[in-house]
Amino acid sequence: MNQLIKDIALTLPPLKRLYAEREQLREENQRLKDVREEVAVEHKKETQLGEEPSIRMTEGYCPFCGSETKFVAGDYWLRDHYLCTQCNSIPRQRALMKILKERYPDYKMLDIHESSPSDGVIRQFQNMTENYSYSYYYEDIPLGSALTDGGTNQDLEHLTFADDSFDIFITQDVMEHIPNPEHAFLEIARVLRKGGAHIFTTPIYLFTKSKPRIQFKDGKWVNIFPPVYHGNPIDEKGSLVTWDWGDDIAELIDDATHCTKTEIIQFPHTKENYEMGLEADFLQVIISKKIKE
Ligand SMILES: [Zn+2]
Repeated sequence: MNQLIKDIALTLPPLKRLYAEREQLREENQRLKDVREEVAVEHKKETQLGEEPSIRMTEGYCPFCGSETKFVAGDYWLRDHYLCTQCNSIPRQRALMKILKERYPDYKMLDIHESSPSDGVIRQFQNMTENYSYSYYYEDIPLGSALTDGGTNQDLEHLTFADDSFDIFITQDVMEHIPNPEHAFLEIARVLRKGGAHIFTTPIYLFTKSKPRIQFKDGKWVNIFPPVYHGNPIDEKGSLVTWDWGDDIAELIDDATHCTKTEIIQFPHTKENYEMGLEADFLQVIISKKIKE
């Protein structure tokens, strides 16, 4: 019966138009429902990436792995938790790689050494270039000897490398853990070739002067301030913070080495930086270029 009424109705032009309009509305409704479902599925995927629901998500391009990606964070401390979903890099790693690629576009041809890298960083560099070497420091192993997990044993204050061995020397959150950083900056400058650079990250307290947190007294190192430890890839006890760096770090390095020109690079709140996942506290890269022998 319904079909009969419909068939008759469709022979009358005004009713035919009404029927067509109703069909159009029905299709539009279905389309909106599908879109809502797609959005819900997508949101669920995103919140499952971390254990915590994602509190930040930005689409963009990762300067570390060179991919179009999404950056997600499951914690408000973005410096350690704002991950690229392609390579798991964190903001300071992306910032350092951006500066390396900008300042040394031929980086794939250069001799690069890194002290105390994390596994992800080693993998990424090994994917990009054959000229990447790395080291860690164990006090109880002879300096310069090969380590079982790759790399060599090196104390940044007493490197075993010859003068002018590398074009790029990288340290990521290492220079705040060195007892005599002045010695380390001198040593790094020594093993760099002229025109090369020490490119590094370390927390910098802007608008303050650098200060040591330990001092050498009666034959041993003692704390001046209550001890603070950061994560260490080779020691679960962590690493003692020995220096709080202020924004005079560039001057201190150049005064120590007499052969470098050092600058602190900031990553301001711009759309371009947001889309590269460059958003976090203590997000500075220091580049100390060897300008003379
Ligand atoms: Zn990435």
